[in-house]
Formats: sequence, structure tokens, C-alpha cells
Amino acid sequence: MAFVYQLIYVSSTFLAFVLGALVFFRRRDQTVVRLFAGFIATGICWVITLYFFYFFTEPALLLLTGRLNFLFSELTAFFALAFVYHFPKTTFRLPRWTFYASISVTAVLCLVTLLTDLVDENEVIQGVSRVTEFGRAYPLFMAYLGLVIAALVCILVRKYRELKDEARAQLLMVAGGLLVGFLFAIVTNVLIPWRTGNYETQHYGPLSLLFFCLLMGYAVARHELLDIKVLATELFVFCLLLLTVINNVVSVTPIGQVISAGTLVVGAIFGALLIREVHRDARQTEDLRVLSERLAQTNVHLKEMDVTKTEFISIASHQLRTPVSVIKGYLSLLQEGAYGKLSETVLEKIDQMYAANERLVHLINNILNMSRIEQSRLEFRCSDADLRTIIADVSDEMKFKVKDKGLILECDLPPVGTAKIYTDAEKIHEILANLTDNAIKYTEKGSVRIAGRVVQEGGEDWVVLEVSDTGLGISEEGRKRLFERFYRVDAPGSARQTGTGLGLFICKKFAESLGGKIVVTRSEPGVGTTFEVRLPVKSTGQCAPSENK
Ligand code: ADP
Repeated sequence: MAFVYQLIYVSSTFLAFVLGALVFFRRRDQTVVRLFAGFIATGICWVITLYFFYFFTEPALLLLTGRLNFLFSELTAFFALAFVYHFPKTTFRLPRWTFYASISVTAVLCLVTLLTDLVDENEVIQGVSRVTEFGRAYPLFMAYLGLVIAALVCILVRKYRELKDEARAQLLMVAGGLLVGFLFAIVTNVLIPWRTGNYETQHYGPLSLLFFCLLMGYAVARHELLDIKVLATELFVFCLLLLTVINNVVSVTPIGQVISAGTLVVGAIFGALLIREVHRDARQTEDLRVLSERLAQTNVHLKEMDVTKTEFISIASHQLRTPVSVIKGYLSLLQEGAYGKLSETVLEKIDQMYAANERLVHLINNILNMSRIEQSRLEFRCSDADLRTIIADVSDEMKFKVKDKGLILECDLPPVGTAKIYTDAEKIHEILANLTDNAIKYTEKGSVRIAGRVVQEGGEDWVVLEVSDTGLGISEEGRKRLFERFYRVDAPGSARQTGTGLGLFICKKFAESLGGKIVVTRSEPGVGTTFEVRLPVKSTGQCAPSENK
């Protein structure tokens, strides 16, 4: 046999053997790896039987190796199909009967091929070639191969659609290797001999296995195929040491032997170090993968819990509103004397209860608003609103609080008819009430001032609302985080007051939803604070003309 053919037989067998053995002995517990090893093993047997088919001249042995060669081509195809079904993971399940049917059909065909003359009737020697006399059931053999390839393509296409990223790239590599390998082997070992009578091309058949192994080697390195990056390193080190050993054996001079022995020792040490590093690397990668998977699961769980929590808060605060409103109603009636004249002391207590109930209403509203913001369920009712009216209403609501604290409330209303805007008046009212409430709460003496006006800036008209006080003021650090949810300034004066740190967060969300913004324009600790809300007169955000409902 020509040297080049021998080279093809030996190199393909050797490479396939090393690849199959390394994969199998590292991860033999996985079905996919066992099937891969089965595919490689039957592929190698196919190459070996082909080799001996051309080696033997004795008719009985010739026929036996010829039939075995047919048999191993059937088994290789079968294992390839099973491997692809499980590689890189099973994405769909075929019915159980297909499993039994494919095994039975393959087993029967193998027995028929080996024990009868139905597929391979006889093998005859013609010069350097072998000519197969096909049996009556030979078309069945061809049909079997055709069927396997068709099934292979179907599975690959389906998996390609279902898999993503790295797994998909791995599948593509395997698909390319298998399909090209199979087609190549069919052309060189079946079609060309059959159509032209030239059997010489059969010696190129093993190249299909060689090609498949090279592609797998590339996939191992590039796409971490079958998790054997470590194995690839081991293979590399092994080949290097093998070459050194061969070099040592063939060296004729003592100096040459000493040098290659030294190279062998050094190579072995560095090889061991390299393998240890790659092992550690692989373990870390695996740990990271497991961790990130767990993290992703926890994240999903946390998100679910967060949704449940928000829903609970929303329902609870909604339910709390009714009794609190009822209490407020009765307290008002008591204050007005609807149930008879009450003594000064009782009235004073009722006023305190009323104030406490008001704080509760405020708190429930804030919590409800926050849960709506989190669920993106804020509702907007846009209409023509007048800033004058809103300011007047808020200052009216706040006058008792201001009086209680001994402060002065000043209102600077915009001229009649000038500050009109199409917006959600209730939300603007809530913003202004929150800011004024804060101004009163965090001011011990002096005044609180509410002002409204229209200004022109950047070629646009803006409605500006301003709430100033002569209170505690806010530190620079506090100003940076003022609008965060639950944030409360950590200053002795602030801490004395009850609060949740939700008010300004809600104000900001409301203002932004209406296309405006809220900022602190002035704040000096001990001197006072000014908050400014700006809204475009030409409404934007939720009340933009196109979104008007
Ligand atoms: P709450 O008042 O319920 O704590 P807010 O979100 O309304 O929550 O306010 C957040 C924090 O900002 C308050 O705790 C307070 O420390 C500070 N703050 C708000 N308005 C003023 C103000 N006018 N003067 C001084 N500090 C203020």
C-alpha cells in the first residue's frame, strides 16, 4: 500500500483514538460523552477494517473484513445520530418507541450484513483494487444511511433553533464535522467506486475521520466543547513528550540522548505545571458558572418577592384608607359640635386626634403612591388647571398647621389668568402640599412662603412654583440624596420630626411624569430652604397633547 495511504490510516486512527480516549476517561459518566466515545470507537473500527480489507488476500478473510467494514459504517452512523440527539444537551424528547425502533433496525441490519450475503455478497480482488459484489438487500443499506443522515439534519436544524450562544456555536462545529465527514466518506467509499469502478478512492475515506477529529480539536479549544479544554492541554503535553521520547530513541549520539533526556525532564515538569494551572482555571470557571447560575435564580426569586411585596403594600394601604377616612369624618363632626357641646379639654384631645389621623392619611397616601410608582400604575387625570387656585387651596389647608407652630404663611399668587396649564391638578396639588408640609415641619420660627409665576426660558414658557422657608436648611450631602426613596437627612432637627422619606421621592416622580422637574434652589443650614417646581406651559409628559385621554 502506498505510503501516503498508510499515513492517512495511521494518523486518523491515532488522532481519533487519543481524542476519544481522553474524552471518555475524563467524563464517562455522561451519556453524551459515552455516545461520542462510541462514535469514535466505531469510526476507528471502520478505518481498521478498511485497512485489513486491503491487507488480506485470502477470500474468507477478505469477505469478513469487507462485511465488518459495512457493519462499522452502519454503527458509526447510528452513534453519530444518538450523539447529536444528546449534544450539547437534550433540548427535546423523542417518543420512547423511536429509541427502541432505531436500535432494533440497526441491530437487525448489522446481523444481516455480517451473517448473510444480502448486503455484501462477495469481495473479489482485481489488481490492487477490491470489488464488492452487492447483495439483494444492498439498497436497504443505502436507505439506512440516507435515513440516518436525514434524521441527523432534522435534529441539527431543530436544535440550532432552540440553542443559543455558545451551545449553538458548539452544535454548528459538530454539525459541520459530521455532515462533511459523512458526505466525504460516502463519496470516496460508496459513490465513486460504484459509479466509476475505481476503488482506489476508498483509501481516502479515513480522511473523513481525521477531518472530524481536527474540527473537534478546534471546537474544544475555541468553544470549550465537551468541557475538555483541560484535556486538550493534556493532549498537547502528551504529544510533546511523546515526540521527545521518540527523539531520544532515534538519537544515535550520546550527547543527543542526554539533550533529549534533559528536554524530556524539563518538558515533563513544565507540562505538569501547565496542566495544573489549566485545571485550576477550569475549576474556577466552573465555580463561577455555578455561582452566576445561582445568582440569576436568586435574582428571579427576589424580583418575584418584590412584586408580591409591592402588591401587598398596595392592597394594605388601600384597605387602610377607608377606616381612616371614617375616623376623620367623625372627628370633624365632633369638632363642629354635631354630637353636642364638648368641654375645652375634650376638644383639645379631639384636635390632637385629628392631627394624628391627618398624619396617618398622609402616610397611607405616600405609601400607596410609592407602590403605584413601583408598579408603573400611576394614573393621570389631565385637565385645564389654574396655579392660582392650587396655591390658594394648599395655603388654606395648611393655615392651621402654620398657626399651631406660630409661623407666618405668605402667598405670592400669579396674576389672575396668567398661570394656566393643562395638567393633572391633583398631582400638582400633592406636590405643593408635600413641599409646604415639609417647610412647616422643618421650620421652628419665621415664615413659609408659597409663590407661583410664569417665566420664559430657553424659548419656552414655564410655570414655576416656589416653596421657601426660614427653617433648618439642608446640608450639601443631604441635598445630593434628598429625592431618593426613604432618604431622611441625618441632622438633629430633622430626626426629631416624624417622617418616612417618601414625600420628596414621590414629588420628583410626579413632576417628571408631567414633563417638569423639581430642584432645591437655595438651602443653608440654619437659614432656610427653597424648593422649585417647574412645569412646561406647553404640557409634556403624561399630559402632552398627543397623550391626552
Ligand atoms: P419626610 O419628611 O417624610 O422624612 P421627605 O421625602 O418629604 O420625607 O423629606 C426627606 C428629608 O428631607 C426629610 O427627612 C428632611 O430631613 C429633609 N427636608 C425636606 N424638606 C425640608 C425642608 N423644607 N427643610 C429642611 N429639611 C427638609
